Amino acid sequence: MDICFFRLYKKEKLCTFIGSQEYFMTIAQAKQALKHYFGYDSFRPLQAEVIDSVLDQQDVLVIMPTGGGKSICYQIPALINDGLCIVVSPLIALMKDQVEGLRQNGVAAAFINSSQSYQQQEEVMTQAIDGQLKLLYVSPERLCSGDFGAFLSRIRVNLIAIDEAHCISAWGHDFRPEYTQLAFLKQQFPHIPLMALTATADRLTREDILRQLRLNGARVFLDSFDRPNLSLNVLPGQNRFRQILDFIRLRPQQSGIIYCISRKRTEQLAAKLQEKGIDAAFYHAGMGPRARSSIQESFINDEIPIICATIAFGMGIDKSNVRWIIHYNLPKNLENYYQEIGRAGRDGLKSDTLLFYSYADVMLHRRFLEESGQREIKEAKLERIQQYAEAQICRRKILLNYFGENLSQDCGNCDVCKNPPSRFDGTVLAQKALSAIARMREQVGMRMLIDVLRGSARKEIMEKGYHQIKTYGAGRDLPPGDWQQYLLQMLNMGLLEIARAGQVLRLTQASREVLFEGRKVELVRFADIKKRAGQQQKLAKPKSKAQLFTEGLFERLKALRLQWARQEDIAPYLVFTDATLEEMVSKLPTNEHSMRAIAGVSEHKWQQYGPAFITAILDYVEEQEQAGEGYLPKGGTYLLTYQLYRKGYSIEEMARARELHPNTIYGHLAHLYTNGHEDIQLLDYLHEGEISRIDEAIRNTGYTSNVKPVFDYLNGEIDYFKIRLYMAHIRKTTAGSPAGRE
Ligand code: ADP
Ligand code: ZN
Repeated sequence: MDICFFRLYKKEKLCTFIGSQEYFMTIAQAKQALKHYFGYDSFRPLQAEVIDSVLDQQDVLVIMPTGGGKSICYQIPALINDGLCIVVSPLIALMKDQVEGLRQNGVAAAFINSSQSYQQQEEVMTQAIDGQLKLLYVSPERLCSGDFGAFLSRIRVNLIAIDEAHCISAWGHDFRPEYTQLAFLKQQFPHIPLMALTATADRLTREDILRQLRLNGARVFLDSFDRPNLSLNVLPGQNRFRQILDFIRLRPQQSGIIYCISRKRTEQLAAKLQEKGIDAAFYHAGMGPRARSSIQESFINDEIPIICATIAFGMGIDKSNVRWIIHYNLPKNLENYYQEIGRAGRDGLKSDTLLFYSYADVMLHRRFLEESGQREIKEAKLERIQQYAEAQICRRKILLNYFGENLSQDCGNCDVCKNPPSRFDGTVLAQKALSAIARMREQVGMRMLIDVLRGSARKEIMEKGYHQIKTYGAGRDLPPGDWQQYLLQMLNMGLLEIARAGQVLRLTQASREVLFEGRKVELVRFADIKKRAGQQQKLAKPKSKAQLFTEGLFERLKALRLQWARQEDIAPYLVFTDATLEEMVSKLPTNEHSMRAIAGVSEHKWQQYGPAFITAILDYVEEQEQAGEGYLPKGGTYLLTYQLYRKGYSIEEMARARELHPNTIYGHLAHLYTNGHEDIQLLDYLHEGEISRIDEAIRNTGYTSNVKPVFDYLNGEIDYFKIRLYMAHIRKTTAGSPAGRE
């Protein structure tokens, strides 16, 4: 690669620019920018530290899980420093998403990649040269291409961020050869801080990133990999379809992904779901690029909520409101599993994950492994995920431990924590099964074994003479499902094994110990496992009025969000995230002040969408009241009055419509005004004469904040409530004066 062009870069100029105190920004300024551009009040702990380091001109490596908030780490320094930040990003879809998200917040951002025409690229470059951009996303190929150097020498770079930095490492799961060309950046831009970001925790990959990017003195920030908002659940892989249906029906309108092991399965499952009236599509690498990107778009835009997919789906999807992930099949290792469930709940809201575990899947993976390289490592990894799925201790502990972290307490958000298992002495039960296997000369599979234990009289059993063995019918007391569960547990404990590609059960050394050497067997009660499944499906309880109100409003706001998204041709979560909508639902912001206090309502979004969302909330409260459901949220009565005020009703009309006394309406208006609805023109309700008399009375009663002395001073000639209105007015306008205190 020709890197000479970078020498054209005016280093001296850069030094004075970046090093000058004039541009030294503090974390306090960064916080202001966070509120202004993103609508958030505070940084997450690691974000603040990273930003502090960058403002200090240090190189950094940031390792944070998906949804940890990596992008803010470079976006904020880019915004508060003069010049622009170059962001290297591997996927066109991701770039587009990020740039659209930034523009939504009023940030001048653009990208340059192969999806654009030459002319489009030229336009972006001109903008960058003219200093009109704060963030410029570039693909690694483009950054390293010959003609880019001349361009770079003409722009002011304040930071270089390398997103998905693990792509540089052949150790990682997502190696991209183009990334290795980025190694020259540090040499050519020694005075510009460089930030590498990744969600890959693997130590080898981490070291590789530092070495390859030549980040010798870089500070490394490693965040916890815990994603406490994701629930972890594992269920036996039986009646999967039924369980998936129940799961989905409990989560209407929510986006989710069902990962399957095979292309065929994704198609079958999507078809079966559609038959049941559920809106689902499939996605796998065997489809044409057009079909694939159309499915992906529909998912991102909340048009198709459910995708049945192979692992090909998900890369390059930043959708923050994926609410659940189901694994129809066992993934081949915990890395894949964690990455896949990690696609849920990027917005930090509670999201559910469910893994179906079946021994057949383990066998399937084993078969694949036989034909692949690095078989031992892969087998070991398969065993670790198998252990995870079979665990009877907190699953998050196991998972985090695998990634090198220790969780000191049980998480409380996995199926085992929610339903701790109870064990029983299953020695006799195990002996019955093992003895039957021995007596049938290790020639039968699980189904036959269970039938024999339960004393079935089917033809094959009679023909083979299995009805004559000693343990025939010895397990009649247990239903077949229970037997299957216990046999699985025994398999997992190595008390028996499956041979001939899943066809027959064999005894092991451990089985002999149980049969002949008095070894005890502890099993987990099937009832507990079933209870977990039940918990999963939580029988739909009738909902309270408050719940219905909340859910209805959330749907209403989602619909409004979708309208805006369509109009602007962007993904709905780029208008507002689910987290932001939920906060609106719980806080019911109906004025500028309270709306801007909602996390995610940035300056630009307030301007753009704020009033429309306020109107939607007020309309909804009014409709609910009119529907006569008898439910009003806290403070709802004021909002109803406010809604009438906005419609231009007079005091009398409001009083009539609300069946309240006019004095109460005055009280409402004063309350609303005091609580942020400063658009209410309180003085409209007072005559000039009244105003001056009340004013005088307040002065003569010593600027009291009580209404009574003023009322008495005026001999009761002016309504109590008018006095109150006026006092609310002056409290706001003369905050700090004696009358302003209360
Ligand atoms: P990552 O790139 O690490 O997966 P993102 O940068 O996409 O994560 O951030 C994940 C979500 O968290 C986004 O919805 C983002 O707006 C939100 N977020 C980031 N930082 C903060 C913060 N300081 N306060 C509140 N929300 C934040
Ligand atoms: Zn747990």
